Amino acid sequence: MSAILEVRGLEASYGALQVLRGIDFEVKKGGVTALLGANGAGKTTTLRALCGMIRRKGEITFDGARIERMNTESIVRLGVAHIPEGRGTFTSLTTEENLQLGAMTRPQGRDIQSDIDRAYEFFPVLKERRNQQAGTLSGGEQQMLAIARALMLRPKLMLLDEPSFGLAPLIVRQIFDILADVQKEAGASMLIVEQNAALALELADHAYLIETGAIVMSGDAKSIREDDSVRASYLGY
Ligand code: ATP
Repeated sequence: MSAILEVRGLEASYGALQVLRGIDFEVKKGGVTALLGANGAGKTTTLRALCGMIRRKGEITFDGARIERMNTESIVRLGVAHIPEGRGTFTSLTTEENLQLGAMTRPQGRDIQSDIDRAYEFFPVLKERRNQQAGTLSGGEQQMLAIARALMLRPKLMLLDEPSFGLAPLIVRQIFDILADVQKEAGASMLIVEQNAALALELADHAYLIETGAIVMSGDAKSIREDDSVRASYLGY
């Protein structure tokens, strides 16, 4: 499998604070890569650096194109969808209006309504809530809406930041099951940042462990899951 995303020597700083100290990683085409690590390790910063939301150094190749000098809008247009922690839906708009907006930056002429219907197939509860203001949806529904809205871009790569954040285990399970369906049926590659390492390692085929801005371990998801130090520090068994 070739890589859809290849990152070499990625550095990022906030002012004088260097957060990423030259990291290398990749996401295979059609695959799911997990980025695991403790609070403050630099996972969110990595996603923000990839989509041009903060200044970065290094080489980022997406689908054959070098993107490290591109702005966020251009990167989105190439097919990278970022689903930030905290979800970032438009709270005063309805579910369906959020989905319509999600289609704005993609090529014209596609049938938006058929893509909305496809999003509702992945997330039937959103169809029931189509006319409800996003701000009044439950936390789980808002997370689903954020993912559904990203799907409206027909992304080649989804950057998911802590989709489990603040949600009850049952809802988290449901969201991860849907993400597995999305990956299979929509064929999107994914880079997922998660504190819930056990869940992320179920979905992912490959994982990297990041500690204070450096990659300290990488491997296929199965070998990472079976690593003793990962089990002790991140999996709790
Ligand atoms: P978490 O799971 O807690 O979100 P993380 O691995 O995603 O952790 P980051 O959010 O990438 O970590 O943060 C990495 C470091 O950068 C932390 O020390 C954090 O305090 C710092 N940091 C993050 N955002 C900013 C910012 N806007 N300004 C200054 N420092 C920041």
